[in-house]
Amino acid sequence: MNTFSIIFLLAVVIATITRLWLAQRHVSFVSTHRAIVPAAFSEEMPLDAHQKAADYTVAKSRFSMVGIVFSAAVLLLLTFGGILQGLHDLTAGVLDNELGRGILFFAFLGLLMSLIEVPFDLYRTFVIEEKFGFNKMTRALFVKDFLVGLVVSAVLGLPFLAILLWLMAAAGDNWWLYAWVAGVVFWLFVQFISPTVIAPLFNKFSPLENQELRQRIEALLTRCGFQSKGLFVMDGSKRSSHGNAYFTGFGKSKRIVFFDTLVERHDAPEVEAVLAHELGHFKLRHVLKLTGLFAVLGFIFFWMLGEAKHASWLFTGLNVSFPAPDALVLTIFYLVVPPFLFFLRPLLAAYLRKNEFEADAYAAAHAPANDLVRALVKLYKDNASTLTPDPLHSAFYDSHPPAAVRIARLQQLSSAISESRT
Ligand SMILES: [Zn+2]
Repeated sequence: MNTFSIIFLLAVVIATITRLWLAQRHVSFVSTHRAIVPAAFSEEMPLDAHQKAADYTVAKSRFSMVGIVFSAAVLLLLTFGGILQGLHDLTAGVLDNELGRGILFFAFLGLLMSLIEVPFDLYRTFVIEEKFGFNKMTRALFVKDFLVGLVVSAVLGLPFLAILLWLMAAAGDNWWLYAWVAGVVFWLFVQFISPTVIAPLFNKFSPLENQELRQRIEALLTRCGFQSKGLFVMDGSKRSSHGNAYFTGFGKSKRIVFFDTLVERHDAPEVEAVLAHELGHFKLRHVLKLTGLFAVLGFIFFWMLGEAKHASWLFTGLNVSFPAPDALVLTIFYLVVPPFLFFLRPLLAAYLRKNEFEADAYAAAHAPANDLVRALVKLYKDNASTLTPDPLHSAFYDSHPPAAVRIARLQQLSSAISESRT
């Protein structure tokens, strides 16, 4: 134990207590507002749907508290509990090549971390989602998803980690700079192959067949000056009845994907409005800006990693021998940073919510705002998303503005647009 041990322990404890406190606030706030549908939604939202959303939110938040405590315990066991060092020593007995040992260590650790997540995923899917009627997943599909997920992470992740280890050993003092470049290239590569190679391992994508909808969407794309490599419907309903739409890929692999549940439950103007919002994200370069932001943050991360490699206090303070093998350097740094960054989370969330407002404004300029309002209310209802989140919880975590704020803004935009037309 050294001073850093105490600082790290404090960071973990403070972040954990804050997360628990936020979850508890959320539960209380939602419960308090369970009895009455907020006035702005009194016409569109039946009381039973509002109460289902409240119960669903409370169930998820309560369960998240178990996960919060568990992940803090895991973090402390991996470090102070000596599990990381132990796991690495174990690989040393199997292989004497440093690079091979590092890869084996990552494979072990990855498998371990995936396995301890399984009970949580099982409970979330087959108890909570099931209880509220959202789960469509079978046990066989759950197992298949888990195995395919493991293989995909191993096939993509292990070679990338091997490159990092090789750079650490062979690229001299500036290894962290090359590692950062490798990280950015790897991220772009994953984005590029994701729509055509990775996503089809989990879902089936078929061309959008509804002719009326197709025509509306193609007209919208032309109005917005957008070219895409296809409109697809994804069989999301084989896992869950939650609905969504998204954009994926870039350049030649760019495509628009609708969850089948979205197309089934929404009329054509609503789907068009949802897509107009997504187009807004693209046209306003939100994806690009976010990528740029993460590239800059990644640069700082790798620079700090480059410095941290030589800091004996970091490793001895966390029960890892110094000088630490490169695989442990990467792991320790990756694990240590998040508790310290937790309090920056509201900044990122606020930035994402600003993007949502901008995309809504874009949508309102290219499709009737009222269609988007109708689509959003339906999405809130069908997904049992609460209309009354705790404001502080929302400020910390939510990438989307609270429903009431968002819809009020859209209605303002809608009346502003119709006034400017008359
Ligand atoms: Zn959005």
